[in-house]
Amino acid sequence: MDLKQVVDNNLAKTNLGKVANYIPALGKVDPKQLGIAVYDLNKDNITNAGNADVRFAIESISKVIVFLYVAKQLGLSNVTKHVGARQTGFPFNSILNMEIEKAHYPLNPFINAGAIEVTSLIQPYNGKSPFDQIIQFAREICHDPQISLNSEIFESEDRTGDTDRSLAYYLKANNMMHADVTASLTTYFKQCSMMVTAISLANLGAVLANNGIKPWDNKRLVPTEVATYTKSLMTTTGLYNESGTYSSIIGVPTKSGVGGGLMSAAPNRFGIGIFSPPLDNAGNSVAGLSALEEISNELKIDIFQY
Ligand code: GLN
Repeated sequence: MDLKQVVDNNLAKTNLGKVANYIPALGKVDPKQLGIAVYDLNKDNITNAGNADVRFAIESISKVIVFLYVAKQLGLSNVTKHVGARQTGFPFNSILNMEIEKAHYPLNPFINAGAIEVTSLIQPYNGKSPFDQIIQFAREICHDPQISLNSEIFESEDRTGDTDRSLAYYLKANNMMHADVTASLTTYFKQCSMMVTAISLANLGAVLANNGIKPWDNKRLVPTEVATYTKSLMTTTGLYNESGTYSSIIGVPTKSGVGGGLMSAAPNRFGIGIFSPPLDNAGNSVAGLSALEEISNELKIDIFQY
């Protein structure tokens, strides 16, 4: 498929969204960008077009990486004791859903409360801090040794992250989180500030699509059951309160981040990474989702249709 054509068809849609600026450092990004990378598992190759090698902040897509890491280290059943698998129908940083539900744990790992909870489960290991473990695992699963921390974005998140602080203290106050709140938040803000490309995200999607095995060296990185569980969650909660909307028109397990990234895993077929900064009201890349819809139709990867 001609990815350059998909970029040309969708670049103008960058005008329809707004770059995230509630984290001030993210507001400085050039909005008129669209990059796409597709890892084809059957051909074992990766193709890309547009701004596919531009680095940007991974933001909420880090929630997938950290969930995979913690489930691999502790076992899936030990993570699902601490975080649910339900969609919320609320924005990603809502505190209200936990109050309304009188929840005993955050409703899923892809909203901020759930992600902070999952991050808080990581203990220092072999002399490595939780963040050092996360970035090492991110480099491995994205097949991208250049992933690094953007300290300007991290400091910006840390300075303005009071909603995330409220969520974490709510968890602690209600006995849902047992780790140190400040340290867990620092790790969470750092994981969101890792710099990736659409190509790194296509590689991550390819590992998930390939049931936990890295297709570039055929080595297993996460158990099949963890990859399967994660793809299910991406389908129901990966695009926040718009997840249902896009499951019905795109039908490919996908996770978004407010840096403009999208990462998709088309089971047994493709890993897809997309970058385009302007977002819809829910925090998902507008031109990116439009491009993904075109790719899903062209490659016939809607899991509900094929
Ligand atoms: N760092 C962002 C936050 O905590 C991540 C949110 C996102 O990408 N949806 O608000």
